[in-house]
Amino acid sequence: MAVLKAASTTAAPATTKLGPAACEKDAEKLAFIEEMTVNVDEVQERVLAEILTQNAETEYLRRYELRGATDRSTFKSKIPMVTYDDLQPEIQRIANGDRSAILSGHPISEFLTSSGTSAGERKLMPTIQAELDRRQLLYSLLMPVMNQYVPGLDKGKALYFLFVKSESRTPGGLPARPVLTSYYKSDHFRSRPFDPYNVYTSPTASILCVDAFQSMYTQMLCGLIDRLAVLRVGAVFASGLLRAIRFLQLHWRDLAADIFAGVLTPKVTDPGIREVVAELLRPDPSIAEFIEAECAGGDWAGIVKRIWPNTKYLDVIVTGAMAQYIPTLEYYGGGLPMTCTMYASSECYFGLNLRPMCKPSEVSYTIMPMMGYFEFLPHEDGFAVAGGAPPQLVDLADVEVGKHYELVVTTYAGLCRYRVGDILQVTGFHNAAPEFRFVRRKNVLLSIESDKTDEAELQSAVERAAALLRPWRTTVVEYTSQADTKVIPGHYVIYWELLVKEGEGGQWPPAETLQACCLEMEEAMNTVYRQSRVADGSIGPLEIRVVGGGTFEELMDYALSRGASINQYKVPRCVTFPPIIDLLDSRVVEAHFSQSCPNWAPINNKLIN
Ligand code: AMP
Repeated sequence: MAVLKAASTTAAPATTKLGPAACEKDAEKLAFIEEMTVNVDEVQERVLAEILTQNAETEYLRRYELRGATDRSTFKSKIPMVTYDDLQPEIQRIANGDRSAILSGHPISEFLTSSGTSAGERKLMPTIQAELDRRQLLYSLLMPVMNQYVPGLDKGKALYFLFVKSESRTPGGLPARPVLTSYYKSDHFRSRPFDPYNVYTSPTASILCVDAFQSMYTQMLCGLIDRLAVLRVGAVFASGLLRAIRFLQLHWRDLAADIFAGVLTPKVTDPGIREVVAELLRPDPSIAEFIEAECAGGDWAGIVKRIWPNTKYLDVIVTGAMAQYIPTLEYYGGGLPMTCTMYASSECYFGLNLRPMCKPSEVSYTIMPMMGYFEFLPHEDGFAVAGGAPPQLVDLADVEVGKHYELVVTTYAGLCRYRVGDILQVTGFHNAAPEFRFVRRKNVLLSIESDKTDEAELQSAVERAAALLRPWRTTVVEYTSQADTKVIPGHYVIYWELLVKEGEGGQWPPAETLQACCLEMEEAMNTVYRQSRVADGSIGPLEIRVVGGGTFEELMDYALSRGASINQYKVPRCVTFPPIIDLLDSRVVEAHFSQSCPNWAPINNKLIN
């Protein structure tokens, strides 16, 4: 076992806080982490200089008259902080086929479609080929960190549910797809060399199959066949793992039947998958009977531990919006630890959790300074600092413990001082590198999985739906909402208090009208919501719960009794506090669901062909 030494050239301490590496290869990776985290500021300075050199001749940097300068102070004095909407014109031109150096000195290789939206459509993040290597570098650090805490992961396999989504092309011919789809389809993933610490039960053909059913079915099947070899079970986000468990609940009979007979169901038609599964699937009545015995009784508590008894941990992100799934995962996982290993986005991969076995509430991510140039916009207790002068952005090495910041990134692909929209809190340092708790994403009211619905979107959805009540002389006097994830898939619940204008001939709207209101609201949601509803089935039908008259007044009374000021009280547009949800639910007089799926087509962005 190699004990790590910092590979730093500065006078850094020779011993590190990372533990002993599991093997020589891991030792190199851990030394790299030490080097990066000891020399954060120097690395950031170098990264900024590299980015500015690489992009010196771009239209964007020329516009701000950087004139080849690569130092921080010139950069900070000349380049503005921007949002996606500020960059729309440039992004539109690139999407339309303008190949000149607009944002990046390197050719834009593709667009990554973010789950963040702008005007209801996915944001398109330009990226360059070299970014794939940088993402791969961050991935390569995850197992060396994990191996310090969980020994023997090279003696078995990982059951990870990984999926690609459909992709499109921009009018100029560039692919537009989610970052993970891009990664799984890349040679970095498909032609990865054998690594005993990273052996997946899922065949690559299953991961790369765009049909969600065939992909999930065969990933689950292969995980069941190899159940005793499985040492960790995971998906990218908690919602993905819960969908897989739900899938098992719905399809265990077919899966067991296939294993019993050693024949793959004809419902899986993808020839590539059929070929590889044929190699793995043999008649195995004992596994089939075991699955039946575990699933038939309808007792799903601890199912992951029972079916995959050698599982050491669940590898899923349960921070941020995913924290709502922790209790459900505890139930299905039978108390297995959950590890959040990485913090990343379509704009840039940021960093990793150096203590992945910590409790979900204690997860902090260390932003790795070689991934991009990072600045931080101060927030006070999570709220933007108000005031006249333009805010001063703080460098990665200079953030302070306890403070909240919004993350601002400058990337090799050409985003300059771009506001990511994530609010982070500094919890401590690893060497000179700050560690951040993910606090929240700005402006997100409702989220089930990757969907992010903000207050304005909910408001306009309610307005659109409420218009259907006009013939009944009925209005929505108040509303609020919650993301209900008690049942998988989760769904949006909108609480409505109605006013029927009886004096004007108003009538209580019939069930069909309220069902139509549910669908109308879904039609008004952004494309990520509708894709999850239609193509992925990862969000259930939207529900309107009509509450009795006076309920929202009671809600206000409750808030006032807990110290809210009557002058400042505003109806919360989303509720998460259990007593408030209980109060609302106790006043429900009718509940209605969307009876069909909203419209969604993969190609509906004006930037995409
Ligand atoms: P996307 O642009 O669709 O790739 O989504 C990236 C966003 O997902 C980030 O900006 C975060 O808001 C969220 N995210 C990514 N990783 C994590 C994490 N480990 N914990 C919480 N939120 C995360």
